[in-house]
Amino acid sequence: MDHFLYRDGALYAEDVPVAEIAAAVGTPVYVYSTATLERHFRLFDEALDPLDHLVCFAMKSNSNQAILRTLAALGAGMDVVSGGEYARAKAAGVPGERIVFSGVGKTGSEMRAALEGGIRQFNVESEPELEILSAIADSMGVTAPVTLRINPDVDARTHAKIATGKSENKFGIPIARAREVYARAAALPGLEVIGVDVHIGSQLTELEPFELAYTKVAGLVELLRADGHAIRRLDLGGGLGIPYTRSNEAPPLPSDYGEMIKRTVGHLGCEVEIEPGRLISGNAGIMVSAVIYVKNGEGRDFLILDGAMNDLVRPSMYDAHHDIVPVVEPAAGVEQVPFDIVGPVCETGDTFARGRHMPPLKAGDLVAFRSAGAYGAVMASEYNTRPLIPEVLVRGDQFAVIRARPTFDEMISRDNIPEWLL
Ligand SMILES: *Cc1c(COP(=O)(O)O)cnc(C)c1O
Repeated sequence: MDHFLYRDGALYAEDVPVAEIAAAVGTPVYVYSTATLERHFRLFDEALDPLDHLVCFAMKSNSNQAILRTLAALGAGMDVVSGGEYARAKAAGVPGERIVFSGVGKTGSEMRAALEGGIRQFNVESEPELEILSAIADSMGVTAPVTLRINPDVDARTHAKIATGKSENKFGIPIARAREVYARAAALPGLEVIGVDVHIGSQLTELEPFELAYTKVAGLVELLRADGHAIRRLDLGGGLGIPYTRSNEAPPLPSDYGEMIKRTVGHLGCEVEIEPGRLISGNAGIMVSAVIYVKNGEGRDFLILDGAMNDLVRPSMYDAHHDIVPVVEPAAGVEQVPFDIVGPVCETGDTFARGRHMPPLKAGDLVAFRSAGAYGAVMASEYNTRPLIPEVLVRGDQFAVIRARPTFDEMISRDNIPEWLL
């Protein structure tokens, strides 16, 4: 469910015609819907009632300040994976006690910054990380709240690049070694071990892998408690998938996910955290792009867009599918023809879709990539010296540019010339 629908033959973002935004801001451009973001956050929040819980938005999926503020105003926590994301969360006004710090490679300076600014917990992924965090917290005279990320050895059945819960992945502490590592953590100064963390992957389209993982976590909590650890918090990660095509079988709903959480870990009496990213921001954004050329090749026709792989990398990087729809609704019954939809970057990998059936389009026409709100703008680069594209947030009948397109001068002036070249 999102708020990008056709009205009277034109695509709207909530109550604003997408073509109006494109005319005002230029293309390509990301457009986000406040109502969709809010709706998705609330679905998760309500799904965990009446458990004591916190929904921490995985801000690596979309870290624009305006997006963070929109969610923080509803009471969202943030799941950060770098010092930069921590700084962004703080800048958006999120208090430290609502920020959890995940990631396999936290550096000492990132840990220090989070301990100084306030942190809800560190999700620690290895023994060396435990030792460093202990030493830093101890030297600062503070106590770091810690959960250990357990790798439950569960197959998430998702794309290999975003599966994280198998023993061969780099993430977490093997569940078989968990008790030993908890004992080590309890003995270290500067740490308070408060819970267990798990995150098995992203874009999961079924509940079974989560259920297997959470059941293993519940068993582990009983063992850890028997060992004398006061386990009071569970971080169950993110990863619930979204439908990227209209025709797709729908992935599980947050409400089903919440029921499953209550069934598997509800009896433990723990405070529960989840870290959804994609399901909150994914369908809350589109990327709007204009057709530059329609090129008729040999046996293949190309739509060459002004958007490219540097703006939305998911198709090149994960073979991801995005529905691509014209901003002017095609007339009923109009013949659709297959196109390869590509960007202008000098790589064959700069292909969004092959043989995609589209209504007739001409230069200047606008198309929208659906479900582009997560892992879109945050993964963009300036490859080919293409400016990072602007981001726009819509709320009802208003819209605002929440990140402007840099000028070429701004981009170039970030380079420094060493004195020997002056
Ligand atoms: C990426 C990630 C998430 C969010 O995953 P989504 O698929 O966007 O929900 C949550 N937690 C951790 C630790 C992550 O690495």
